[in-house]
Amino acid sequence: MSNFIEDIISDDLKSGRCKEVVTRFPPEPNGYLHIGHVKSICLNYYGTAVKFGGRFNLRFDDTNPAKEDDEFVRSIIDDVKWLGADTTRILFASDYFDKMYECAVLLIKKGKAYVDDMSAEEVRLTRGTLTEPGKESKNRDRPIEESLKLFEDMKNGLVPDGALILRAKIDMSSPNINMRDPVIYRVLHEEHHRQGNKWCIYPMYDFAHPIEDAVEGITHSICTLEFEDHRPLYDWIVRECEFKDPPHQYEFARLSIQRTIMSKRYLKKLVDSGAVDGWDDPRMPTIAGLRRRGYTPSSLIDFCEKIGVSKANSEVETGLLESCIRDELNITAERAMAVLDPVRLVIVNRDDNYSEELDFEINPTAGDGETRKITISNELYIERSDFEITPPPKFKRLVLGGTVRLKGAYIIKAVGYETDGDKVTLVKAEIIEGTKSGEDNSGIKVKGVIHWVNAKDCIDVEARMYDYLLLDVDEKVDFSERMNPDSLKVLSAKAERYLASAPKGKSYQFLRQGYFCRDSKSEKPVFNLVVSLKDSYKK
Ligand code: ATP
Ligand code: MG
Repeated sequence: MSNFIEDIISDDLKSGRCKEVVTRFPPEPNGYLHIGHVKSICLNYYGTAVKFGGRFNLRFDDTNPAKEDDEFVRSIIDDVKWLGADTTRILFASDYFDKMYECAVLLIKKGKAYVDDMSAEEVRLTRGTLTEPGKESKNRDRPIEESLKLFEDMKNGLVPDGALILRAKIDMSSPNINMRDPVIYRVLHEEHHRQGNKWCIYPMYDFAHPIEDAVEGITHSICTLEFEDHRPLYDWIVRECEFKDPPHQYEFARLSIQRTIMSKRYLKKLVDSGAVDGWDDPRMPTIAGLRRRGYTPSSLIDFCEKIGVSKANSEVETGLLESCIRDELNITAERAMAVLDPVRLVIVNRDDNYSEELDFEINPTAGDGETRKITISNELYIERSDFEITPPPKFKRLVLGGTVRLKGAYIIKAVGYETDGDKVTLVKAEIIEGTKSGEDNSGIKVKGVIHWVNAKDCIDVEARMYDYLLLDVDEKVDFSERMNPDSLKVLSAKAERYLASAPKGKSYQFLRQGYFCRDSKSEKPVFNLVVSLKDSYKK
């Protein structure tokens, strides 16, 4: 089924309103991209430009010098590339500052803009309300020549910050507040990350954005619903600035996900305050964080397809995003064994020289029967929770005198244990002969299969167990009071030798534990929990 944007584009191509679809993704380089931006990139690139054989521009909306930074430009390009979108046209709104200035002068000359001396506060106070019209400025009918001169003074650095503004002259009693003589240029003596000190006036978003779109020949300018009320202004700007074949703006519902912070501004706060380990902390909903966590471009694109595009704001369950990566890794990830909370297990009916190679299935979902070798000895580690002195009802794993299968190996029977206080320090077990996996005709039935690692050749790894950054409490509570104190738990785990050579960024299924991705930054073996095995999402 097509979405409403696709329907509009199909109609526009049919009617000849445009010959080729041109879309853009216009991030402000004031932070790293997050999962909300992924929705926008997928829609503008995969969902429109690719689908209709058109073009896609990555355009930096760098019109606010105070918050912009080259680090953000680089990270955004990396992230957009990583998602597989076209980055052959990387453009900067600041490259159109001359054109924007020209448009502003044109508006003044047409009597459609004037220089005013109101402060931001005065503009706000005289703007009126939804029920009352705004108040016209005493400068509204300033002679064109005077406005031209003052605007030039603003440009030439003769005016201090905030002393003068340029306003579009539209309608102070418009029912749409955005049309009540909006500010289109302000004075700001601030160095720009690309333009240096060339400019000390900067265009406002509502003025700059339509011009950027028009200059690039964007046909469909897709933005989020908050801008719906700005559309009449968008149309006014492209019309009054006399662009031919002007772009059109369309709005869709922004992505929000339960317990997920979707604001660059707030994410920046987390980074700056040290609450997380940088923009690419695997708990962050940034593209960099998701990538480091173990998400793949295909899983994110799949997620965007599943959520679809609509005009109604709603909140997506966290489980949907997780199920996209889980379903993918279930098919692609190699299986491996790691014990996250280890307790030693000694096989009492094998001696110290015992070592045997066993076949371990790399990925049962792949169905190709491929195996690799693992080695067992008489000293192993098993998961502490897989042995109980006083088991709860229906416990299916190891108890004294009980049996369980060691994954890919033998059935064992627990014959003893040692403790230090309440804590089990050692489990003693014996292999039941004739029960080797794949060759077992003993007829013995076990209720459980547990994973293990060989204590004699395993490696120490750090497992980072992640939970949501936000607690599951009232949405209206401020983020700072919703931070989850247990969003990261670091475990000292034991993993099979094979994982010593795990490439950075590669994900594995740790049997019975979840999917883990070898951290791409740490030199020592650190594995990030991508997602648990259990799917709580109702499909
Ligand atoms: P933030 O509040 O996180 O800074 P923003 O809208 O200010 O978001 P921009 O850099 O201006 O960030 O966004 C670039 C593009 O991404 C815009 O077209 C915007 O509509 C889109 N976008 C931002 N957040 C979302 C979201 N949650 N869902 C869908 N699209 C989004
Ligand atoms: Mg923005």
